[in-house]
Amino acid sequence: MDNCLFCKIAEGSIPSNKVYEDERFLVFHDIQPAAPTHVLIIPKKHIATMNDAEGEDFALIGEMHRVAQEAAKKLGVAESGYRLINNCGSDSGQAVYHIHYHLLGGTRLGALVA
Ligand code: 5GP
Repeated sequence: MDNCLFCKIAEGSIPSNKVYEDERFLVFHDIQPAAPTHVLIIPKKHIATMNDAEGEDFALIGEMHRVAQEAAKKLGVAESGYRLINNCGSDSGQAVYHIHYHLLGGTRLGALVA
């Protein structure tokens, strides 16, 4: 998709610090980490928000959890624990309209707040 930052990262025209990549997914370090471990898990397919997922997208989103599990192991936070967050839409603060999970860990994370 034109003018989508994460599509450009997925295709490699904008560089990223990659943790994991296969044909359908990319995991890379967030440019402004909010925790000692903070990576973003994206499908290479452009889906703007969780609200826009349909049909086979749900299998893809399901597989993002496998990718998250593998990334957590690789990053050394699987045992200590981590948080997966998806922001959907303006009230959530979603800034990049290409579906993604934040994987946060490496410290004791605070309670979720409204
Ligand atoms: P959102 O608020 O949409 O859930 O999260 C978007 C995330 O993308 C933010 O945590 C932000 O720091 C990260 N981000 C924005 N631009 C870039 C970039 O160019 N490279 C990387 N690696 N992360 C980015």
